[in-house]
Amino acid sequence: MMKITPTKNNLKILVVDDEEDTREGCRRILTRMGYGVFTAGNGREGLEILEKENTAIVLLDLKMPGVDGMEVLERIQEKAERPLVIVITGYATVETAIKAMKLGAYDFIAKPFDPDALRIVVRRAHEKVELTREAEKLALERRKTLLDLSTEKSRTRTIIESLPTGVVVTNSSGNVVLINPSFKEQLGLDPGRAPGGHVEDYIEDDGFCEMVKKISCGGFNDSRDIPVYEFSPSDGRYLLAKGKPIKSEDDSCIGAVITVSDISVLKALDRLKSEFVAEVSHELRSPLSTIHEQLALVIRDIAEGKSTEDLPILSRALDKTHELISLVGDLLDLSRIEAGTGYSEPKMVKLDELIESVVSFLKTKAEKRKQNLSIKLPDESVPDIFADPLALESIFGNLITNAINYTQEGGKILVKIDILDDRISVAVIDNGIGIEEKYLKKIFDRFYRVKNEKTRFIGGTGLGLPIVKGLVESLGGTIKVESTPGEGSTFTVFLPVAH
Ligand code: ADP
Repeated sequence: MMKITPTKNNLKILVVDDEEDTREGCRRILTRMGYGVFTAGNGREGLEILEKENTAIVLLDLKMPGVDGMEVLERIQEKAERPLVIVITGYATVETAIKAMKLGAYDFIAKPFDPDALRIVVRRAHEKVELTREAEKLALERRKTLLDLSTEKSRTRTIIESLPTGVVVTNSSGNVVLINPSFKEQLGLDPGRAPGGHVEDYIEDDGFCEMVKKISCGGFNDSRDIPVYEFSPSDGRYLLAKGKPIKSEDDSCIGAVITVSDISVLKALDRLKSEFVAEVSHELRSPLSTIHEQLALVIRDIAEGKSTEDLPILSRALDKTHELISLVGDLLDLSRIEAGTGYSEPKMVKLDELIESVVSFLKTKAEKRKQNLSIKLPDESVPDIFADPLALESIFGNLITNAINYTQEGGKILVKIDILDDRISVAVIDNGIGIEEKYLKKIFDRFYRVKNEKTRFIGGTGLGLPIVKGLVESLGGTIKVESTPGEGSTFTVFLPVAH
């Protein structure tokens, strides 16, 4: 066996022939043609080379001692990557030709052959090898593209199926061709509901169906003109639909894609905002009109030259402006707390000292109402709190002021500090007018004030407790209230201890 270095065309050829002259002749010619050539003197040797080397063409003598050419041909056909076989034969009969062809031989060359005949037959085989390789490459690329396409398609389908937004796609006559699970859920449709029907079979809302039909049939020249559509299916939720036409390559409209989002939360926020603005306007209007009337009186009196009796009127107006200023102050505090921007300079605070100073500040106010305002500290020392001291002053200032305001003259108010496991509790206990059970939750709402005979003449904004609750929560604490009408109330704040 002899191996010749493969050259430019990189194709390897095996020559299997028991006649050395033929083998060597072939080797010379083929090497000159630029092929890498292996030679084998018998069938067994030839098969061994085929096992090891990647050979594209085999020149195979049919008549050899031992393993003959037909057997080698059969064995070659069993291989996954088969080389092309050119049969060399000295007695080319029709029968052997047919047999060899049936076994998969590609071509024939009769012995003795001249170099040109060999070159022609090898070139033809070479072309066939190249063509087969090219075809295989194309087939592989095509398979890969198809695979990519189907992966892409199933990926897109999965994404649409999992979108939190409802999606419905229609064709140009308004027939539904796709609906995703979110859409079915939003519209209360059966999860197994299939596309196929007209849009009206899925949604009862006329406005929605009109919009879908108009977009589907190309009713909007410019898709920026398509309005968004808001609607409410019966259960009080609000949905927002946005649509776009689907254009074909020639720019004609072939359907519509509509997305549907649940905007109930936004709607609720919007409503709260409007209610809040209405409440604020209401709260501001009544003291402002009082001031307006009082000032008008003073001006009239001055114009009539009898301004001497105006002092009480002016002082009432002054009180009202004071109320307004504190209302606006509370509103600003509340909006800062809700935006998370107020009271954000925490430091280590000695809570007992801070509460003592708030109590002593409010003592005069309590004494005016002949109330007993006292503080009870725990036996052990109070651990520090990590918080903005202004926030703590606002919390306890508001609670103690409420206790003073909503407790009759001569009443008792006690501020009690206790140490729990990893929290400190501060209870503001009064024996005042108390709060009915049904109002206990509401008093933490903005502007909520209990209105009854006992509270009628007590001024306030209804913003104190929402501020307190917002601040306590921003410090990682909680607040609870217990109250019995006619007996008194206890507001308890729990705050985490600083570590
Ligand atoms: P304001 O005191 O300005 O009205 P708050 O938000 O501080 O507003 O309190 C809301 C309502 O809760 C008060 O109007 C009052 O009816 C009730 N309230 C608060 N604290 C007490 C208390 N210690 N005793 C009885 N009622 C109280």
